[in-house]
Amino acid sequence: MAAKKVLIVYAHQSSGSFNAAAKDAAMEVLAGQDCTIEESDLYAMKFKATATAEDITGDVKNADHFCYAEETKLAWEEGKLSTDITEEQRKLTQADLVIFQFPMYWFTVPAIMKGWIDRVLTLGYAYSQEKRYSQGVFKDKKAMLSFTTGSSESMFSANGINGDMNVTLWPLQNGILHYCGFQVLAPQIFWAPAYAPSEVRSTMLEGWRKRLQGLLSEKPLSFTPLDCFDGEKGYQLKPEIHEKQSTKEHGLTVGIHLGKALPPNSQMKAGV
Ligand SMILES: Cc1cc2nc3c(=O)[nH]c(=O)nc-3n(C[C@H](O)[C@H](O)[C@H](O)COP(=O)(O)OP(=O)(O)OC[C@H]3O[C@@H](n4cnc5c(N)ncnc54)[C@H](O)[C@@H]3O)c2cc1C
Repeated sequence: MAAKKVLIVYAHQSSGSFNAAAKDAAMEVLAGQDCTIEESDLYAMKFKATATAEDITGDVKNADHFCYAEETKLAWEEGKLSTDITEEQRKLTQADLVIFQFPMYWFTVPAIMKGWIDRVLTLGYAYSQEKRYSQGVFKDKKAMLSFTTGSSESMFSANGINGDMNVTLWPLQNGILHYCGFQVLAPQIFWAPAYAPSEVRSTMLEGWRKRLQGLLSEKPLSFTPLDCFDGEKGYQLKPEIHEKQSTKEHGLTVGIHLGKALPPNSQMKAGV
């Protein structure tokens, strides 16, 4: 494998946490494969989580009705984004792979990481009307979620009380990562480490280390390509694609399910 650049966006308050151990394992194993690693340790950086007018240096275009997306697009074009955003965009531009390492908070990423997403993935820089989904800005990059839960795997199953983890992952993996064009690698989920015996936690980390050895050659998850939708008709699935699916048992994806059963584990495993 050729040397690659990896960015780890990490959100945990404690260096003694399981998340820290997972992040350290990634840094160590990937560095051992000659990858160059950059880290954004969001709590240590006291990363600002709120998307506000202060993210733009100097005057904004319309202070009376401040529109974050439009104003940051203009600021990005004019080199007027705040230095913390510019620095994260530099790291992201250089990266071949981005790993988001975090504890699940309220079925999603912690607020500080959502702030990174809101503020770094700005209009123009990370997406536009023309450049999104399979035609997205970052289509030559890979990204993945690596996270811990408090709940057990069975609670996040199709029959479990939290509902199917594949459904939980759809907004993050489709709505953010794939939207910006990333090839999304299957998530690394560490189920409820705080309730696992120490030897099980060690086995989880060992499994992660093993996966990291071949991570950059993994096949990404599949999403429906942009050209399957008709932009003239509100980005609905084209009739011929719909027709082709008519005999199939499952929907295309978790979100584009066509009123059918969800394809099993499509947000968790490549090639399903
Ligand atoms: C605001 C909030 C919202 C939440 N929402 C959800 C939710 O929606 N769904 C959900 O499932 N959970 C939720 N949780 C729970 C949360 O996801 C878990 O508490 C978190 O994922 C646990 O990860 P951690 O890194 O903090 O674990 P830690 O408590 O840091 O670690 C677990 C154990 O691993 C040990 N450990 C550390 N390093 C190592 C090592 N190298 N080797 C072996 N063991 C090690 C630690 O000592 C500890 O005993 C929420 C929590 C909060 C605070």
